[in-house]
Amino acid sequence: LRPVPSDIDIARAQHPKYIRTLALECGILETELLQYGNTKAKVSLKVLDRLQDSSPGKYVVVGGITPTPLGEGKSTTTIGLAQALGAHLDKNCFACVRQPSQGPTFGIKGGAAGGGYSQVIPMDEFNLHLTGDIHAITAANNLLAAAIDTRIFHEATQPDEALFRRLTTDKSNKVRFSQVQLDRLSRLGIAKSDPNELTAEERVQFARLDIDPEQVMWNRVLDVNDRYLRKITVGQSPTEKNISRETNFDISVASEIMAILALATSLKDMRERLGKMVVALDKKGKPVIADDLGIGGALTVLMKDALMPNLMQTLEGTPVFVHAGPFANIAHGNSSILADAIALKLVGEDGIVVTEAGFGSDIGMEKFFNIKCRASGLKPDAAVIVATIRALKMHGGGSPVAPGRPLADEYKSENVELVEKGFSNLKKQIENGVSFGVPVVVAINTFSSDTKAEIEKLMELSHAAGASEAVVCSHWADGGAGATDLAKAVVKVTQEPSNFKFLYPLEDSIEDKIRSIAQNIYGADDVSFTEECAEKIRVFTEEGFGNLPICMAKTQYSLSHDPALKGAPRGFTLPIRDIRAAVGAGFLYPLVGTISTMPGLPTRPSFYDIDIDCETEEIYGLF
Ligand code: ADP
Repeated sequence: LRPVPSDIDIARAQHPKYIRTLALECGILETELLQYGNTKAKVSLKVLDRLQDSSPGKYVVVGGITPTPLGEGKSTTTIGLAQALGAHLDKNCFACVRQPSQGPTFGIKGGAAGGGYSQVIPMDEFNLHLTGDIHAITAANNLLAAAIDTRIFHEATQPDEALFRRLTTDKSNKVRFSQVQLDRLSRLGIAKSDPNELTAEERVQFARLDIDPEQVMWNRVLDVNDRYLRKITVGQSPTEKNISRETNFDISVASEIMAILALATSLKDMRERLGKMVVALDKKGKPVIADDLGIGGALTVLMKDALMPNLMQTLEGTPVFVHAGPFANIAHGNSSILADAIALKLVGEDGIVVTEAGFGSDIGMEKFFNIKCRASGLKPDAAVIVATIRALKMHGGGSPVAPGRPLADEYKSENVELVEKGFSNLKKQIENGVSFGVPVVVAINTFSSDTKAEIEKLMELSHAAGASEAVVCSHWADGGAGATDLAKAVVKVTQEPSNFKFLYPLEDSIEDKIRSIAQNIYGADDVSFTEECAEKIRVFTEEGFGNLPICMAKTQYSLSHDPALKGAPRGFTLPIRDIRAAVGAGFLYPLVGTISTMPGLPTRPSFYDIDIDCETEEIYGLF
């Protein structure tokens, strides 16, 4: 329709097919499907065992130019491309996207189901609870937080022997070590299995984690933009005997458990990752892990169902996995490895899986290659980089763009010069993609204000910069039919063998890995480290975390650390303020500037417009 109706009106006008029908079409067996109502279902990891000998499909990542704050259409293009492949070119195809946090849905940004005629439906279910994965993360994260503070309390209020006795006496009054306690003993180098055999010194060593309350790294989480929880004091009731401390809440999707959900390759792998999360330092400065608190098993139990990808569909009835949604700065911003891996097996050798990488390509795509593909062992076949004339004009010197503000004139009328100037950003993103050894396809996501001359210039420049293909698409306005040329280009480039390679070897020093990303991907001259950061790097290396990949926590609004620097800035030194370890997720994350892990609500949040018709139960106001 013209004008294109609102996202929710489009989504509601299309009746989704019964999810079991879709699952059977995709080759999922009834025994592998756990239905949550009629429009969404979880898919068992057993698919991977059943199809272990079959060849996977082609693996395509969708990244983007450094965006304007309005978003340049990565989600929309991921869905539009999948619709084109699946519903128009008759290819087996899956789209894999992230589950959005409820924070932005009720705050300012809105959901992330794509847009226009390229969306995941039902949009309300996609944007709200889905199948409860984020709630499971909240539950697991906060159980661990409770375990940490309670342990500090018990250690502070009980003498050694009483503490040891209580820790080793089970519900039926039997004195014994649980398996996770035996594992802790072995980490301590105590080769005994009967609590009675431990010497007095070993008992203290076992019972006291000696967590330094000032060095607890584990925060509580909630999937709400609640700025008043950014700093809180816990333990203020008299029952906690003045053992209080300051701590923080983060939004649930910033939990390390979310990053683990996205990077785990099996239930066993998730169990191991959850157990080895470093949650605090002890008073000697040594890491305390979740398994020291005996909680890795319980966390895995809480997360067991969340590990299965959620099957939904596009507006055109092609399959989508919606699974995991880690932050794109302090985490890697990609959907789950398991969703991609299952989808690759389901589509088979001639099929294609399109997966989205959050933020600009310098962040999302780099992390997709260096972190996600490294953890999964999956080899990407192509990268699609989404670009808009609007973003290029902004990089070329156009006025700042902000949500809720009208676009300046240069965005509404032809200005080839600005497009040409702003191309420097896309050029760098293309070169980055090519440097990983995969073919790059530029998807020009067209808006009604774009002109022929601007688009032609962009296509010419993209080819010259090393893109294998540059294709105009209109899937937002036309659905899959508007992305068939893009789909054909993707099919074409994935016929060639991929020469995918990582940017850096894990054995490089932490500093060198950071420098490599800064210089090669961002275009920095060099990197600077604060003294505190240099000291932490020394400690991480000593603790054996030096071989982890790097997950930069950087603004997505510039290739540099400064959101005001557009285009492809040069001559800057990237300042690394701090560095933290997500040992369970399996990466180190250097902080470039300050990153908020608990957003706030604006004065007029989206929830002002969200309501339900109580007669028809129709939800409105979501976008
Ligand atoms: P990203 O994933 O890059 O953040 P989205 O795909 O979520 O971007 O798109 C951001 C917003 O822009 C959405 O509201 C979407 O509906 C809208 N949008 C995307 N492409 C177009 C287009 N070609 N014309 C108009 N609106 C678009």
